[in-house]
Amino acid sequence: MTHNIAHHLTDSLLMAYSAGTLPEAFSLTVAAHVSLCDECRACLGAYDSIGGSLLEHSELPSMEPGSMAAALAAAKSATAAKVRAPRTRGVLPAPLQDYVGGDLDAIKWRPVGLGVRQAILPIQGVATARLLHIRAGAAVPNHGHRGIELTLVLQGAFVDDGGRFARGDIEIADEELDHTPVADDAEDCICLAATDAPLRFSSWVPRLAQPFLRI
Ligand code: ZN
Ligand code: ZN
Repeated sequence: MTHNIAHHLTDSLLMAYSAGTLPEAFSLTVAAHVSLCDECRACLGAYDSIGGSLLEHSELPSMEPGSMAAALAAAKSATAAKVRAPRTRGVLPAPLQDYVGGDLDAIKWRPVGLGVRQAILPIQGVATARLLHIRAGAAVPNHGHRGIELTLVLQGAFVDDGGRFARGDIEIADEELDHTPVADDAEDCICLAATDAPLRFSSWVPRLAQPFLRI
C-alpha cells in the first residue's frame, strides 16, 4: 500500500543535509524521509550536484536573479530520472535499520506512559533522536518546542493541528507550534522524532517525568 507523501522537508533542511552541516539526529531523520520520498530525493540530488559543481569551480559565476532557481529546476529534472527508490523491507527505512541493527523486532521499547513507548537511539551531538510507539487512539501529551522537532511517521498515522501525517510524512515543529498528536484508531503509530531542545509540556505529569524520559 503506497501513500502519497503530503508533508515534506524544507529546502533549507535538504541544503544543510547536502552540505553535511546537520546534527546527527536531524541528518538521520532527513535520510530516512529521503529514502521514502521520491520528491525530496530528486531535490537532494539537485542540491548535491549544484554543491559539487560550486566546489569544483572556486570562482562562483555571478548569477542573475532567478538563475539559481532555473539551475535548480534543471538539476532537479536531470536527477529525477536517475534517482531510484532504495528498496525498503520492513517498517524501518534502511538508514534507521543501520542504527537499530534490524527492523522493529530489534527495538527495546520503554514505556513513557499514557499508551506511548519510546526507544532512544545512540546518537552523537546536540540533538537527540528516538522512536515513538503511540498506541492506536492514544495521544502524545500537549507540548510546545524550544527548538526544532522533526517527526517522521513510519507506521500508522497521527493527526494534529498541522494535519494528518501518515507513513513517509514529516512534521517540522518549532517554537511557534504547540500540538497534541493523536494516533489513528485503526493502527498503532510508530514515528522517528528528532529534537535539539527539551519539549515544553503544558501539564505537570509529563513535566515531572521529563528528566527520566530524556524527552
Ligand atoms: Zn519529501
Ligand atoms: Zn512536538
